[in-house]
Amino acid sequence: MASNQTQPKTVPEGFVPNKALGQNFLASESVIEAILDATQAGGRRMLEIGPGTGALTEGLLQRASFLAAVEKDGRLCEILRERFGAQLTLLHADVLDADIPALMGPKAWHAVGNLPYYATTPIVLRLLSLLPESMTLMVQKEAAERFFAKPKDRVYGPVSVATACLYDAATVLQAPRSCFRPTPEVDSVVVRLVRNDVPMQNGEAFLSFLKQAFSMRRKTLYNNLKQEVRLSETLAALNAPADARAEALPPDALLRIYESLYHG
Ligand code: SAM
Repeated sequence: MASNQTQPKTVPEGFVPNKALGQNFLASESVIEAILDATQAGGRRMLEIGPGTGALTEGLLQRASFLAAVEKDGRLCEILRERFGAQLTLLHADVLDADIPALMGPKAWHAVGNLPYYATTPIVLRLLSLLPESMTLMVQKEAAERFFAKPKDRVYGPVSVATACLYDAATVLQAPRSCFRPTPEVDSVVVRLVRNDVPMQNGEAFLSFLKQAFSMRRKTLYNNLKQEVRLSETLAALNAPADARAEALPPDALLRIYESLYHG
């Protein structure tokens, strides 16, 4: 992948990238095209996280029926406004606390982003809690492992469980570090998540349950969930030991525990 690279045309002269905000801009036309294809954005309502200088934004605007973007760096917001004007619904904010439900409204929407390395997991957790119809996310290789991790894997946690329960996930492309400017220290991959038909009324409550269940990895579920009384019965019904830890339980068991504790 990522052959046929062209020089970055999306990093303006004189712009100094902010390392702390994970600013590694896409500089490969072939990778940009491949991500745009993977999004299946045609006629859809899209949210872009961290548009940067607009590498993906331009193609998204051509395809989507509506595009909103959330960018934390005010300098980049100015560049984006100049480049795209009123075509783009741009929110200068941190995606971790921006009011995304108000931005996207009640209709189905899809997420896309080349995510900043420093906040990949919190951003993915936020997105999972908002239940978009699909997500096409470029993340560094190590971060991608979380989507596919299995019980007892080192990185098995809320991202792995929520992904397995609520989405069909696949890696759609690999992009070496040479596809970015400035060049990061690791390679990236694009992961695509498509919402399955498992019902979920309240993604925020489910993610908050998962964060609590995994909050202290060495503690039992019972301790992490503050001695929730109904838990013992639920674990017994699942044939799981009373001292089970979240890290040893498969995603469907954790979903059943959530449902029986909060909706039983
Ligand atoms: N999409 C652009 C591209 O592919 O060239 C930029 C990707 S760069 C890896 C990550 C972008 O996310 C940067 O523009 C950065 O300023 C922005 N960003 C970082 N943290 C953010 C946050 N918490 N909320 C919103 N945007 C953020």
